[in-house]
Amino acid sequence: MGLTSQSTGIGVLDSELKIERSRVDDKVIALAGNPNVGKSTVFNSLTGLNQHTGNWPGKTVTNAQGKYKHKDKSFIMVDLPGTYSLMANSVEEGVARDFICFGNPDATVIVTDATCLERNLNLVLQTLEITSNVVVCVNLLDEAKRKKISINLEELSNQLGVPVIGTSARSGRGLDALMDAVYEVTNQETANLPLQIAYDDTIEEAIRILEPAIQEQLKDKLNSRWIAIKLLDGDETLLEAIQKYLDYNLTSDENILQKISEAKEKICIAGIDHNMLRDKIVSHMVSIAETICSKSITFKNEKYNQTDRKIDAIVTSRIFGIPLMIGLLGVVFWLTITGANYPSEIIAKFLFWIEDQLTVFFTWLGTPSWVHGALVMGVYRTLAWVVSVMLPPMAIFFPLFTLLEDLGYLPRVAFNLDNFFKKSCAHGKQALTMCMGFGCNAAGIIGCRIIDSPRERLIAMITNNFVPCNGRFPTLIAIITMFFAGAVASPFQSLISTLLLTGVIVYGVFMTLIISKILSKTILKGLPSSFTLELPPYRKPQIARVIVRSVFDRTLFVLGRAISVAAPAGLIIWIMANIHIGDLSLLSHCAGFLNPFAKLIGLDGYILMAFILGFPANEIVVPIIIMSYMATGNIMELNSLDKLRELLVSHGWTWLTAVCTMLFSLMHWPCGTTCWTIKKESQSWKWTIVSFLIPTITGIVTCFFIANTVRLTGLI
Ligand code: GDP
Repeated sequence: MGLTSQSTGIGVLDSELKIERSRVDDKVIALAGNPNVGKSTVFNSLTGLNQHTGNWPGKTVTNAQGKYKHKDKSFIMVDLPGTYSLMANSVEEGVARDFICFGNPDATVIVTDATCLERNLNLVLQTLEITSNVVVCVNLLDEAKRKKISINLEELSNQLGVPVIGTSARSGRGLDALMDAVYEVTNQETANLPLQIAYDDTIEEAIRILEPAIQEQLKDKLNSRWIAIKLLDGDETLLEAIQKYLDYNLTSDENILQKISEAKEKICIAGIDHNMLRDKIVSHMVSIAETICSKSITFKNEKYNQTDRKIDAIVTSRIFGIPLMIGLLGVVFWLTITGANYPSEIIAKFLFWIEDQLTVFFTWLGTPSWVHGALVMGVYRTLAWVVSVMLPPMAIFFPLFTLLEDLGYLPRVAFNLDNFFKKSCAHGKQALTMCMGFGCNAAGIIGCRIIDSPRERLIAMITNNFVPCNGRFPTLIAIITMFFAGAVASPFQSLISTLLLTGVIVYGVFMTLIISKILSKTILKGLPSSFTLELPPYRKPQIARVIVRSVFDRTLFVLGRAISVAAPAGLIIWIMANIHIGDLSLLSHCAGFLNPFAKLIGLDGYILMAFILGFPANEIVVPIIIMSYMATGNIMELNSLDKLRELLVSHGWTWLTAVCTMLFSLMHWPCGTTCWTIKKESQSWKWTIVSFLIPTITGIVTCFFIANTVRLTGLI
């Protein structure tokens, strides 16, 4: 049961959408809002650490709920998915609508963005049609002030007929007033008289015909006027929801069926068909929002978002958009590569000094040499390499990437790539899911839910692996650092490294587009669906938050995962290297078996084996390569990156091996977690296998082609 928290007291759980309250008088608050309006900031500020996340029952959308106390009451706040409307056009919209309608919240708080209130009012007006227990939170007031937008909150509240509270959630301003308003609404101290949206005469007449019949059946369980509008609109999803949550089939009622056809006939006689009706309803809402805003908002500077528009004119322009994007990516990589070298060196020296001390300690203890070998040379040494090679680049790259994310640059990336995706018959939002894939491919796969069309969603899922995740990204940088940048990188070397890394990523994007096109012309045929992409305002990033988020959520998380998987892997490799069958170790036997094929694609048996063993987590590929070489090589003292390079060269590495390893890392099977997520999201083994095979075959073909072209042309 996703939505319920562990109760310690009286449980009142009568339907799957209802929240389990620990006390009967706990108040349940639904928190709704458009995406990116500061909803999570409000939620986190009110509930603090007192929250838990789960899944909506039967749905794949995650939810969070948290508790807070205000005055003498406890409140359970349920964070609904960010949506632009409650039309149930997507899973998220359906979840939000169902909770507001059937979850019986004591109040619904709608967070809105003060800098684009008119657009946000659509959700507010739709909610007011369903319930009167609403509090509107106008957030981002500080930003509105900066843009010289002034909002008359009292007037807005008069217009809407519900409390309107202004907040700057990031600095906590206005949150007390918000809690006061919620308290009052939930304790019925003030009864809201929300704005009644009146449609044109024909629609109103149709509503008048239908509403009493619905009221008779549903009593006060739902707002019958709203249901009448939805039935006229032919909203099937609502009928299903009513059946599911209220166990009532509205269309089995003869009287209602008759009234529906009577009301529809009225509309039809007036010359309004189904599409026109929906258009009329939607455009009426838009015009009401416009009127309300004209009465309550003053733009002291009409050109308030001119700076944003000016920046966008360059950042998203046809000529500069893409080069700027690649350039920015290059700068981030350059900073990462040059910046990571020195700390890597220091950390490596320090950790290998500890290794020496451990060896002294074990010798002093008099432990058998295999114990020392397995623990120090196997487990510890692998961990030392993981930390020294991966920590510095991650500690630089992730904050930089999060900074771009916080600034609002990522939607611009999607905007720039939109055209390319359309040409590949895929969805522009796929670019956003790719950005998520940069963090974690499994997260990118889940992110594909933002794409409504199942065909385009599958394409996005299958190709998500072409962007390197947290685990593969450091692998790419590590190979570059070890092989190309060297210990003391000259400016020229770091430039080459940057170009190489940027090239690999751009190649990944290129392959995403090609494969998307091939898929949409073959097994996933169809036309691209259209959508409007929002360009949210640029925001000043919060440096401290960015650092904390990227260090804790990403760097330490990835490092922790790498360490936890690498430690046993180190042990296994050590054991494999020390169990001999005949003259050769088990490790050499396995590598020898894979070697002929691996050589064909520019790798060697050890590298290919590292990729296979890295299936649980990509982070461990480089450590496994190093471990395998160390176990079979003769350079045993590895306390600098230069020595590491020597180790690779002594095992036959050339620049071609490095390039092929990077390309194969970019294009091979998704990691175990990602495969499992694909299976869960697509509900199909077939698509999971396709998602496994496509990047793998692409990687093998690319590496084969490059390796053999270089060899044949005598470049190496
Ligand atoms: P959500 O998508 O609605 O959950 O939005 P978030 O809570 O993630 O906020 C989106 C961005 O807006 C984040 O960078 C927040 O730090 C920022 N933000 C939230 N509230 C405010 C505010 O009151 N003022 C300003 N300037 N930024 C805010």
